[in-house]
Amino acid sequence: MTQTHTELRHFVAGASTLGAGSHSEPVINPATGEAIASVRYGTAADVDDAVAAALAAFATWRHTTPKERADILLRCAAVVEEHGEELARLESADTGKPVSAARDDVAATVDTLQFMAGAIRAQQSLASGSYVADHTSTILREPVGVVAAITPWNYPLLIAAQKIGPILAAGNTCVMKPSEHTPVTTVRLAELLAEHLPAGVLNVVNGDGAIVGAALATHPDVALVSVTGSVRSGQAVAQAAAASLKRLHLELGGKAPVLVFGDADLEAVADGVAMAAFANSGQDCGAACRVLVDESVSDQLVERLVLRVEALAVGDPADGDHIEMGPLITEAQYHRVLGFLDRALAQGIRAVTGGTKLDRPGFFIAPTVLVDIPDNAECIREEIFGPVVTVQAFSSEAAMIEAANGTAYGLSASIWTEDARRAADLPKHLDFGTVWVNDHLVMPAETPWGGFKSSGYGRDMSLYALDDYSRTKHVMVNHAPRNASE
Ligand code: NAD
Repeated sequence: MTQTHTELRHFVAGASTLGAGSHSEPVINPATGEAIASVRYGTAADVDDAVAAALAAFATWRHTTPKERADILLRCAAVVEEHGEELARLESADTGKPVSAARDDVAATVDTLQFMAGAIRAQQSLASGSYVADHTSTILREPVGVVAAITPWNYPLLIAAQKIGPILAAGNTCVMKPSEHTPVTTVRLAELLAEHLPAGVLNVVNGDGAIVGAALATHPDVALVSVTGSVRSGQAVAQAAAASLKRLHLELGGKAPVLVFGDADLEAVADGVAMAAFANSGQDCGAACRVLVDESVSDQLVERLVLRVEALAVGDPADGDHIEMGPLITEAQYHRVLGFLDRALAQGIRAVTGGTKLDRPGFFIAPTVLVDIPDNAECIREEIFGPVVTVQAFSSEAAMIEAANGTAYGLSASIWTEDARRAADLPKHLDFGTVWVNDHLVMPAETPWGGFKSSGYGRDMSLYALDDYSRTKHVMVNHAPRNASE
């Protein structure tokens, strides 16, 4: 029996704890609006306890060898795989994502932990060198200390693993704060991994951002705060962290452009956008939400896209594995997305499909495609974070590039073309941390993920994440003969 059907607790120093606070909130299944658990909210005192546990564990964990940490991470991956179906079902009920998507998240979680286990053993530094006569310089790579990891609700388990994997592999210890809306799988993960991790290496404090997140961002014993979330939360953490000048790793919002040229394979574009814009109900920082298409093929693309979108099986993921799109995560997010739609339609923007809520329990909005969009409309500027795609037509490549870059976000983009020059040249002109050509939202563990501009800085996944969660130290030895000057 897990805690998930009762009250979710914090996980500190290797044990579940109710902590110092007395406040709990229900955890809601967004497909039904009903509570599936409750979660105890933490306090600044709980953060103090968790950081103290992580600091104590760091004293030993930092000196383990890469092989020792890799062996433990491989055992962690195995225990996640063993409990994969349980975790996928918990994730689906907590987030409203289809069970098949939650299974994909579990598989990627296992792969992330396995990748980091291998990567840490292969990590290298610059070769030692002599840059001053009779001196040898060595560059050491060290863990930074206690890392606070603050995560969002759209991929609770997978993003937890994308933090835990490189943070622990690099020799740091961790205090996680999952989203208050979706704590279920993070708490379960901590319980499962406790079988293999020394006490205090991984701690979880539940609760809201303004209290638990802020306490982590200001805590003097936290060396680095890693946040995945909205721009607003990233800014709040950056401001709070400024007082102690702790390091930051910020994975923030996105508004991904999808550039479709006249020579593109339109069937592939329609399939790609239908998947990458509506998976997870469009609640994806890399969602393919902003289609910029050459005017010569715009009508054809919209027609194909509408066919795909109207064929999506929308419903409660508990209804079966055929469900492809679930609800929005919370009632607040549902009203926020409906607000964007109401304002767009009032402005004369047209929904060629969707544009409304679905008349059923839970927080469902019909998958939506918007056209006839004036320059600078809110729906092409702001991150809606819902099942909404905008389509705008352009008459030149230059105008399309300008529109693509004309956003505060810089996380990801895609280009769809059969032209070799465009495929090679255009990614260099796009101001986004990931640019796919003829695909969207494909993210293997070996490749870095992170943004430019308001999308933040720091890289998740890949060897770059190990760099981000470590520090370099120059050690210089003077080995001149002792009597050289005599
Ligand atoms: P959010 O910003 O509301 O919350 C994210 C986390 O930050 C939560 O744990 C929250 O409690 C915490 N938080 C909020 N205010 C805080 C504060 N003042 N101090 C410290 N912590 C605070 O985001 P969300 O709604 O959970 O997730 C959606 C957002 O996350 C979107 O903007 C999306 O684009 C972004 N996101 C980005 C990536 C990426 O890799 N770049 C991935 C997933 C989601």
